[in-house]
Parts: sequence; C-alpha cells; structure tokens
Amino acid sequence: MRTTDSHGPRYLLSAVLCVSLAGVAAAQNAPRTVAEKSGFTATSRYADVMAFIAELQRLSPRVRLEPMATSAEGREVPLLVIGDPAPASPADLRGDDRAVVYFQADIHAGEVEGKEAAQMLARDLALGKTATNYLDRLVILVAPIFNPDGNEKISTENRRNQRGPDQGVGERYNGQSLDLNRDGMKLETPEVRGLVGVLNRWDPAFFLDSHTHNGSYHQEPVTWVWGLNPNGDSTILAWASNVLFPAITARMRDAYGILTVPHGDFVDPRDPAKGWIPLGPEPHYLSNYVGLRNRISVLNEQYPYVDFETRVRGAYAVFLAFLDYLHEHRDEVVSLVRGADKRAIARGLAAGGAFTVATDTQAIAQRLMIRGYEMEVTVGPGGRPRARPTERKRTYENVPYLARFAPARTVPYPRGYLIPVADDRVIENLLAHGIVVERLLAPAKLTVEGFRVTEITGDRRPNQGHYMTAVKGESATAEREFPAGTLFVPTAQVLGPLAAALLEPESDDGLLVWNFFDRYLAPQFGGGAQPYPVYKLHVPANLVTERVTGP
Ligand SMILES: [Zn+2]
Repeated sequence: MRTTDSHGPRYLLSAVLCVSLAGVAAAQNAPRTVAEKSGFTATSRYADVMAFIAELQRLSPRVRLEPMATSAEGREVPLLVIGDPAPASPADLRGDDRAVVYFQADIHAGEVEGKEAAQMLARDLALGKTATNYLDRLVILVAPIFNPDGNEKISTENRRNQRGPDQGVGERYNGQSLDLNRDGMKLETPEVRGLVGVLNRWDPAFFLDSHTHNGSYHQEPVTWVWGLNPNGDSTILAWASNVLFPAITARMRDAYGILTVPHGDFVDPRDPAKGWIPLGPEPHYLSNYVGLRNRISVLNEQYPYVDFETRVRGAYAVFLAFLDYLHEHRDEVVSLVRGADKRAIARGLAAGGAFTVATDTQAIAQRLMIRGYEMEVTVGPGGRPRARPTERKRTYENVPYLARFAPARTVPYPRGYLIPVADDRVIENLLAHGIVVERLLAPAKLTVEGFRVTEITGDRRPNQGHYMTAVKGESATAEREFPAGTLFVPTAQVLGPLAAALLEPESDDGLLVWNFFDRYLAPQFGGGAQPYPVYKLHVPANLVTERVTGP
C-alpha cells in the first residue's frame, strides 16, 4: 500500500472506491467451481461441492443447506434452499406468494455438466450476480450432486465417447448399483426417496433434471423435453408442448445465443428425416414421474460431442432460461398446477367410467426441424451398418417428433382401489409417494371390479434388480366382502393419477410390474394364478375408514 504524500489524493480516491465497490470485491472473492478453476478439465468431487456450499453460506444468508437424503454409502445429499430471505421450512412460506422451483443435477454422475452449472447458479443467486433478480418471486431449490456415490467413482474410463473433462467423470449408478432415473415408481433408492420427500414437503411447481445425452449427432448443444406420461394433467401436457417449448427455444436462442432442440434420437441414424424420438413415457423416469404428479417437469440433456465448457455453459443457460420464464410467468405457472390439482380431484369424484387411465401408449408425430449433418454409412463390426456424421451440415425440416404419447389402451378410472392384503411394502411405497391411504374400520360388502390373471410371465433378464412381471387377464364385476383392515386408496386426491399408475394391474410401470404383488399371484396348488389383490370401486359408497400413517 502506498502512503507517500505525493500519492495521497489517489490513495484517498482508492479508499472511497474500495468502500463503494465492496459488493464487487465480494463477487471477486466468490468461490469458483472445480470446472472453472481447472480451465474445464476437471469436475468437482463431493468434498469440493460441500466446501463450495459452505463458502456460499459464509458469504450469503440467502443459502440454507437442508440434507435431502443419506446415500447408500453414507453421504449426505445436499439440497440448497435459496431465497431472499431463505425460508427456514415449507411452513415459512404460508402467506408468502413466492413459487418454489427445483433444479437437480448429477443424477447420472458421468453427466456432470449440470453439477458444475448448479454450483455456478447457486453462487450467482446467493451473491446477486444474475441479470434478473429471481428471488423476489421464486424460492429456488438446488440439488447439485444428487448421486454423490456415483460421483466419487471418477475415472477417465467413464463415458469415453464424450469430449472431456480430461480428468474423468463419475459413474451412472448409485451406491446400490441402481439407476436413479429408473426408480420413480418402486422407490428403492435413498436418493429418490429423498427427492420424493422434497416434492411432498416443498411441493415445487417446477422440476428440472439435468443430464448429458449419449446418442445422435446434431448441431444443437442443449436438448430438453417435458414430462410425457399421458396420465398426467392434459392441460399441463398441452401447455408444455405448445407454450413452454416455443418460449424456451426462443429464450435460449435470443437471450443466451444457444440453439436447442427437443430431446431425442433419430429413429434411423442413417436417415435422420425418418423421425426423432424422446425417451418413453414411463413414470420410472423422474421427469415423467413428476409430470404424473401434475407438476411442470423437464428432462434436460446436454449434447456430449461438444467440449466440456460449452456443455457446462449450456446447462447454466438452460437453468437461466427456465428461471426467466418462471419468474416472468409465476402466476400463470402457479395457477396451472393448482388447476391440475383440482382437475385430479374432480376426476376421482366423477362417477364410474367418465374418465380413463392409459395402461399402454402410442406416439403421435409432431413436426420439427433439426440442424444435423449429412450422414455417411459404412459397414461396422459384424457387417452391421454404421452411421457417422460428415463435416457437411444439413438442416432436416419437418422431421416427425414422436413425443406425444396418446393412450393406446385405456381402462375406466375408478373412485378408488381396495387392497385386502395389508402388505407392508405396498403400504410403505404408497405412503412414501405421499398418496393418501385409508383403512376400513368395519367390513364392507361392495360391488367391485376384479382382475382375474390368465397369464403371468417374468422377464428373463434382470432390470434394476427385478425380473419384471407381466400379466394378462380379464376384468369382472362382482359383489365381494372386504374385511376390516382392507386398504382403500381414493382417487379423489391430488396424486390420484399416480395411485392409478401404481395400482392398475395392466399398468406398464406399476407395482405389479415391479414384483410387489408376485407372492399373491403365484398359484398355490397348481392351476391358474390367484386373482390380483387390488379391486376397483366405481360407484359411490359410504366407507367407514381411518387414515393410514404407516405399515
Ligand atoms: Zn442421464
């Protein structure tokens, strides 16, 4: 520091500037992520993320840390509650019109772009460095490292097809060797259970799950798609496709200079014009699961063949583009999800057969444009054709996009489901989702629809630790006596559509598929399978029940 008289006036001026620029100085001391510090050659480890969060908390009261789960290997999964002020709990938000939104990253811990971008986002929100002050209307939940156990298995051998980071990335699976993005219905991982706890406690109107893809060649560095399950609220589904999609596409292009295309892959990589398909609509994918809970839901996938810095910046920009939209349209978004809740309840109250639930789906094409490449087809190993992009860019117009999943088969939506077997695992699963479950206090004689299983098959290959069960059968209506203690799951509740997807016998992603009912179906003395132990009530009935709070 200069103290000579000749420099006195300058020194004084500097001192004044130092005071007035204190905010800038704090921003300059702002923590940098491992990706930023390493020149985008490395990604953060769990300890780096936790130290980064601790530093943010030291610098800003806007960030509160809430553990959302303990991973299989014993790591606390951090949830950042970012607000101005940061609410101490969901109860703190009563009488507060801020909307809660949720961003999640690193679910597949080889796909680390979102983890770096989520830390950048948390920092920039905490230190007031974003161009828009989102925190006057939003409380922003950020789960930057959703799969810490997979993250800690960083190796340069993982995801070698993508461009960096040079120092390696983590693994796809969690500490139980399970894929967290297949656990939306069965809830067998502590991380997804933690997420569902956050959904139940904080009820975010919006959910985004950040990934990096591993598929077709195109020019757009960022892709995303909304929750696709057709049993979700049809108003939200149409709004996501017709309103949100064009708005975010324009915002990404115009404000952030980044091209996007809906998430997908070419049906035939040799001929991109044939079609573009997203992931399936099954709710074991978390983006579809949250959509089935009637919340606005986004799967975001970065493009793996651009460099790591471009991917991190793409992930960051997509966070901001959605925040821009949510901030500007908060009231519309909140009324959309509140309306969906009312419609879900009304659907359950409507008398027998007015509504249906889809147990199978078919994709209907919309049209879109993809900026791709001309493809070169060569003969790969085993004589199989292999398609590689050439240097020649080519725009494919009017490509069929198979993202609107219409019901291919439907069954009547009931007033409720009766389950005479009080199975602890079933009760525990339903309650973990946040579904209201009741128990009959007295026997009841009711006319119900039952499902007689005529054929039962198990998959020959395991999937997520399961040999998945499939059944065929027929429904029949009959009077039946249900003993006291029988479970009753009313569909006139916010999570009615989710309950139906879990309990319908022919649901393509229900508890039957995931083996929860196998023991009840197996023939006891040879002969045919036992009836499915879940019955559908289609007519109003005066049931004397109590709320079930645990197995
Ligand atoms: Zn992924």
